[in-house]
Amino acid sequence: MADERAKRIAERIAPLRVTPGSRVVLAKDFDPGYKADFVTKKDAVELLQQGVEVLSEYQERLAAQDTWGVLVVLQALDAAGKDGTIRHVTSGINPQGVSVHSFKVPSSEELDHDYLWRFAKNLPRRGEIGIFNRSYYEEVLVVRVHPENLTRQRLPKAARGRDVWKRRYRDINDWERYLGDNGFKIVKLFLNLSKEEQRTRFLRRIDLPDHNWKFSAADVHERGSWDAYQKAFSGMLSATSTEWAPWYVIPADHKWFARLCAAAVLANALFEIDPRFPKVTDEARKALRDTKVELEAEAPKGAASDPFADEGARTDKKARKKAARGARKATKRTNEAAATEADDG
Ligand code: AMP
Ligand code: MG
Repeated sequence: MADERAKRIAERIAPLRVTPGSRVVLAKDFDPGYKADFVTKKDAVELLQQGVEVLSEYQERLAAQDTWGVLVVLQALDAAGKDGTIRHVTSGINPQGVSVHSFKVPSSEELDHDYLWRFAKNLPRRGEIGIFNRSYYEEVLVVRVHPENLTRQRLPKAARGRDVWKRRYRDINDWERYLGDNGFKIVKLFLNLSKEEQRTRFLRRIDLPDHNWKFSAADVHERGSWDAYQKAFSGMLSATSTEWAPWYVIPADHKWFARLCAAAVLANALFEIDPRFPKVTDEARKALRDTKVELEAEAPKGAASDPFADEGARTDKKARKKAARGARKATKRTNEAAATEADDG
């Protein structure tokens, strides 16, 4: 059942994945208005809820296993729905298991360091899901579109030559590979919004009083660089979608669909990690039993020596049955494999 679900999700997100090594032209290759035919807006609420439950369950396992961490990198143009996506996708997750960092214009302290420094400082721990609301990818996006940002970084001459963006792509790919090798899985989501939908969303921010706080004249000014951003995003997607950290382009004109896709891509990454609750060793189990005897002996008069004794036995029985089922299935698979091998031979 869980495998079926994982398979279905993997199939559904496959069209959003940027094939490593491919050359992306955003306007041609990805439609911001796309919504799949397998789900309607009405069903999406229920489906997202299911997705959120899966994320919650897997985050718990991730924390228990304490071996892998997950870094979600979220990039988009203004008004593409980054905040709402984060809110929905994390809504069921234990707050202790997730961290969110938003990256703004670098401070003077941050500018005193190499450009990856502030991101390295805010990486998730093992067992944690960390979300970057904007990320080191701004270093090949806004910094590229507005080169005065690069000047502020006071780089040595060799590091700001003509090949600076190529070098940064390489730095980033290498860094992500290093993180992956060391137990940090990177999930990269680009929320792909159309120019017309952005215009509509800005107008909503102006017209609806509740949305006024979100409006920023600077965002509208950035819209003037739309084409330069599309080009920078296309270059970024082409150069930094790798086998170890592929990009997913999320169609963002329909918020409900974007959220569903984001949750699905994250769920897929967790399925791939497949974190397990750690097994209790025989030694630890013996220690549990000894302690249990001591605690039972402390029961005051009239109190049950162990109020959970029945429940524990029931769970144990269930677990034993499940293990037996698993063993039977494994034997069946082995026998089948042996039979196929014999046929082949
Ligand atoms: P917001 O996410 O709307 O609060 O805005 C954050 C702002 O910080 C955006 O305008 C980004 O372009 C800007 N920003 C983020 N990272 C960088 C960076 N590395 N260099 C320059 N500007 C940045
Ligand atoms: Mg903004």
